[in-house]
Amino acid sequence: MKYISTRGGAEHLTSAEAILQGLSENGGLFVPEELPKVAPSFIEALVPLAYEERAVRVLQAFLTDYSEDELRGCVTRAYGGSKFDTERRAPTKLLQTHNVLELWHGPTSAFKDMALQLLPQLLSTALAKTGEQDDVLILVATSGDTGKAALEGFHDVPQTKIMVFYPEGGVSRIQHLQMTTQEGGNVNVTAVRGNFDDAQTGVKRIFGDKAFGKELAAVGVKLSSANSINWGRLVPQIVYYFSAYADLLVAGRITMGDAVNFCVPTGNFGDILAGFYAKCMGLPVGRLVCASNKNNVLTDFLTTGTYNRNRAFYQTITPSMDILISSNLERLLYHMSGSTAAVAGWMKALAETGTYTIPGDLLAKIQETFAAGWADEDATKAAIKEAYDTEGYIPDTHTAVAWQVAEAYQKETGDTRPMVVVSTASPYKFNGSVLAALGHETAGKDEFALLDELAFMNSDPTPAGLASLKTKTVRHQDVCEREEMRAFVRAFADK
Ligand SMILES: *Cc1c(COP(=O)(O)O)cnc(C)c1O
Repeated sequence: MKYISTRGGAEHLTSAEAILQGLSENGGLFVPEELPKVAPSFIEALVPLAYEERAVRVLQAFLTDYSEDELRGCVTRAYGGSKFDTERRAPTKLLQTHNVLELWHGPTSAFKDMALQLLPQLLSTALAKTGEQDDVLILVATSGDTGKAALEGFHDVPQTKIMVFYPEGGVSRIQHLQMTTQEGGNVNVTAVRGNFDDAQTGVKRIFGDKAFGKELAAVGVKLSSANSINWGRLVPQIVYYFSAYADLLVAGRITMGDAVNFCVPTGNFGDILAGFYAKCMGLPVGRLVCASNKNNVLTDFLTTGTYNRNRAFYQTITPSMDILISSNLERLLYHMSGSTAAVAGWMKALAETGTYTIPGDLLAKIQETFAAGWADEDATKAAIKEAYDTEGYIPDTHTAVAWQVAEAYQKETGDTRPMVVVSTASPYKFNGSVLAALGHETAGKDEFALLDELAFMNSDPTPAGLASLKTKTVRHQDVCEREEMRAFVRAFADK
């Protein structure tokens, strides 16, 4: 299977090449040229399998240039051993109201681990397959979560180095500790004097600096990115939709062929898009419900057909969904319209004017699969309280947005098909907001006190990766000015 750009052009790459390159030459995203189809027997065969084996089967459908052994090696290194705190890796919890697909049992307690544990393995295998001799240096600017997940995924992966920039004073105490205590021989973590935009702009500038790229090439280093436009970050996410369906079959909540709805807390549109790929492959998915916070640009788009990023930006208690440009939507537009020229036009309009509108027939086609809703802060907190009071279950804030939107969707539409609420973070990761929603006084308490307080109420224990932060050694204390970022990259590349 070959990969092409959503914006057209002649590129025609293997999946290994697409994963190494990240973004197409014309700025488009790589997509599979055709979508693989699976039979019901494929889904039934997943039922008795462990998560890792389910992953091998699903990945094989897309990564046709990787051998089965290569994929099994990648998956074992990504999800095996004791990195995840449950053998089921991504368990589906069967509650009375909904089923909850928990994607946060990995090392950093957020859903990013599902993809960022596997991407480095797919990338280093791609290096070997394509005969690439250079080292790959992954550059990340982070507002907190992605940086840590990328560090956990890339540390000590052969032929790679990873460097993370975060805004000094701009991340939570837990996030700060998670990053500055990172172990590994190929990692660097540096604070930037400025905000997240400064860090992000600095990284983008380094990527765009051709002369600097040549300088690095001369010392055998290529820059690459771990952000969610890379196909290698998207494809691992398709697996858990199949796995959740298999879990529901095992539990007897559905029988083979029954359609299931998924409600997904959405930011960059990567997670929910993976559900769309699963549906296209033949997984019986009814509707995919796109849940947003107050930054509800996607709710508007999926309801009206107009995408408009010219609006106020809100900081919410669901920071991982505080996004106004959802990059992966471009892939959906390509698959639904089938026109690279149309996609290129909309993306050009988005870049130049901040808005575009799709034709009505295309919107109608998208709405056959996608529904959308959003929840404000009060509704989000109320959903946490409701889940706890009625089910004894404590969702994190992002999951609570999806919980709330799922309930509203069912009420409005009368759609009674089983609902899977996709849970993207452990409540421990957003402990302050979660405890406040449950009526606790949080002012003046330190993060570790809050973790203990939450553990007292929650049936799941504090994740080891968070609890151990209290005693870990700080290894990274570098701070740089915005203008110094490139020099810091250069120094690390030489190491
Ligand atoms: C990244 C993230 C999301 C959004 O996922 P997208 O794939 O960007 O839509 C939602 N919740 C949490 C906790 C996240 O970390």
